[in-house]
Amino acid sequence: MKRIALAIAILGASAVHAQAPIDSSLYGYINSIRAIDSHAHPMRPVPLGGVADTEYDALPLDGIPPFDLPARLHPDDPIWRTAQNALYRVSPALTGDAYHDALKKAVANTLRSRGQGFPAWALDQAGIDVMMSNRIAMGPGLAPPRFRWVAFDDALMLPIDVRGEAARTPDTRTLYPREAKLLRRYMRDLAVASLPATLDDYVRTIVVPTIAKQRAGGAVAIKFEAAYLRPLDFDDPDVAGAHRVYAKYARGGVPTHAEYKTLEDYLFRMIAREAGRQHMAVQIHTLETFGGFYSPRGSAPHLLEPAFNDSTLRGTRFIIIHGGWPLVDETQGLLSKPNVYTDISMMDVMLSPTVLAGVLRQWLGEWPEHVLFGTDAFDGGLEQGWEQVAWVGSHTARKALAIALTGMVRDGDITRPRAEALARMVLRDNAVTVYGLSK
Ligand SMILES: [Zn+2]
Repeated sequence: MKRIALAIAILGASAVHAQAPIDSSLYGYINSIRAIDSHAHPMRPVPLGGVADTEYDALPLDGIPPFDLPARLHPDDPIWRTAQNALYRVSPALTGDAYHDALKKAVANTLRSRGQGFPAWALDQAGIDVMMSNRIAMGPGLAPPRFRWVAFDDALMLPIDVRGEAARTPDTRTLYPREAKLLRRYMRDLAVASLPATLDDYVRTIVVPTIAKQRAGGAVAIKFEAAYLRPLDFDDPDVAGAHRVYAKYARGGVPTHAEYKTLEDYLFRMIAREAGRQHMAVQIHTLETFGGFYSPRGSAPHLLEPAFNDSTLRGTRFIIIHGGWPLVDETQGLLSKPNVYTDISMMDVMLSPTVLAGVLRQWLGEWPEHVLFGTDAFDGGLEQGWEQVAWVGSHTARKALAIALTGMVRDGDITRPRAEALARMVLRDNAVTVYGLSK
């Protein structure tokens, strides 16, 4: 009997030990780091009753058919209450409509009292110093140095009629026309009324000047959301074929899918090369979701290998956004390339700290200079405002880092000072390098 009791006591003690996967002083250090968020969609503060901000994404998903979200993104996941309590001090004792009303009031009060300072306040709450802001345009309340612009450039890849491409799925039906509209806006901004007759003239008078305009407007990177539209297999371009396709359809007509792909493959690399030449990084959405007709297979990180292996693109820094989740092994295999990086944006919103810690540990064991923090903070309405998503992402990422680094120190993989250095690299220093920021 006694022996059994002793055995239980020992088991109990080791279970307690196993339940403390975080070195609290290391966690404290990680929480003190002012982070750089590699990828997010902050909203412009709009006074109550003002015109809504519609420039937070080139491909907002509110127009596609309803689709399911990963479990942690459901508003009833407890993580959102935790965030709301941290940001707005809404009493956790409230339930139902009373909770909803209290939250609504607290958010409205904060928006009113903070005004144009609301976005910077939101960053402070999440421990974020600088947020890479994926937006069609910036605006009041979203100024440097706290908010740095990342512009959208899929539209530049789609100059000719997109109706054939759009017809492919119920999701793409509403997404492609948004790109066509954005290209018209870019052309208007350049005072170009219609497409030039040749591809070379299109690149010279629209592609290059648009990227230059984005750079002059403060953009530090451009973003491709192509995975929502087509597979990421940007093959070695058929240069003559691309010129032929463009010339054939510049004045109208719907190209075949094969023809359009030939043109896109050429333009993707042209745009990425130009971005690099103008000292801008290139972000690429690579994730299993979102949308009921979205193609996880088409967004596999390995599909980007031919582009990453294009020697003329080695001057361009690429970031595999959202870590390519769940295909993190494929992402890892690409991080050996000198110009390829990844970020954990959205992973730290969708995944538990424990699951994310496993991924971080795997990546940091091999390519620690290539891993960046990010949140993908987006506006999901009152109970999932972008400031709440930023808070959830930041807290999840820090906890995950603490678990991963604590494990690495305890296993003797790294020293304690190295753990702190790795935390700084992921949360801040690597982004300084990738986006060419000053420290
Ligand atoms: Zn995003």
